[in-house]
Amino acid sequence: MASYNDMPPETLLERAQLALSRLESCDICPRSCGANRLEGEFGYCRSGRIAKVSSFTPHFGEETPLVGAHGSGTIFMTGCNLACVFCQNYDISQLGEGREVSAKKLAEMMICLQKGGCHNINFVTPTHFVPQILEALVEARNMGLSVPLVYNSGGYDSVETLQLLDGIFDIYMPDAKYGTDSAAKKYSDAPDYTKIMTAAILEMHRQVGPLEIDEEGVAVRGLLVRHLVLPENLAGTAEVVRFLAEEVSPETYLNVMAQYHPCHKAYNYPELSRPITLQEYADAVNLARAAGLGRGLGI
Ligand code: SF4
Repeated sequence: MASYNDMPPETLLERAQLALSRLESCDICPRSCGANRLEGEFGYCRSGRIAKVSSFTPHFGEETPLVGAHGSGTIFMTGCNLACVFCQNYDISQLGEGREVSAKKLAEMMICLQKGGCHNINFVTPTHFVPQILEALVEARNMGLSVPLVYNSGGYDSVETLQLLDGIFDIYMPDAKYGTDSAAKKYSDAPDYTKIMTAAILEMHRQVGPLEIDEEGVAVRGLLVRHLVLPENLAGTAEVVRFLAEEVSPETYLNVMAQYHPCHKAYNYPELSRPITLQEYADAVNLARAAGLGRGLGI
């Protein structure tokens, strides 16, 4: 059973209502736009009162402990509070592909994925829709939802909002995109990314600890971190792995990702206009190992 099943229903409802009330002058994410999303205003994430979903499906391309035998039940949320120039899902995150769904409909998506055998419900880019996800979870729980929830974010999350998820989300899977703010500012329009991301990951780890995997190899609780290697070491891998090993835990499960390829606006930046080399990937993994990390490293 997932953690939210142990929470009194009235507590879950209170959390959802509190989160929804913050949409009136939105500070759900660190951008704190102040948009009145209850009255139709949009903030930086281009998102309003109603959740917007691009797709929901069992996914077999996620990390092995999430996929298990029957897949991770991904729900791709439309919009994003980052603006990465190389985003591989920019049609969803920045161009708004998707459709608005009610809380009931979002709950039905979760139940559908659970009925399909998925080991978890994996919200992709959930940050700007935390209130709507909690609102839907109230209904989904009443419908019998019991699998763990995965919070799969870009790492640009507010600690105050994450605290509303304490005891609700069992698995956190944030990106640690950058080790330096200069790169975060230039490529994701987030000049304070490292301060925000490190505080968020520490809070996530405080809530759920290192990744726990059951006897069938399926994640049941804990933290997984993703780090996408960029060309020319633009992701600041050394700083990221040092933080994870020294300030979070050497037990942190880290997926060092090799799949960078230029798309969206990346060709406007000569340094981002090529895939990474095998050597760049090996260097990143070696940095992680040298820092004391080991869980999740592929080579
Ligand atoms: S969630 Fe969206 S509207 Fe709210 S503060 Fe963040 S970017 Fe702004």
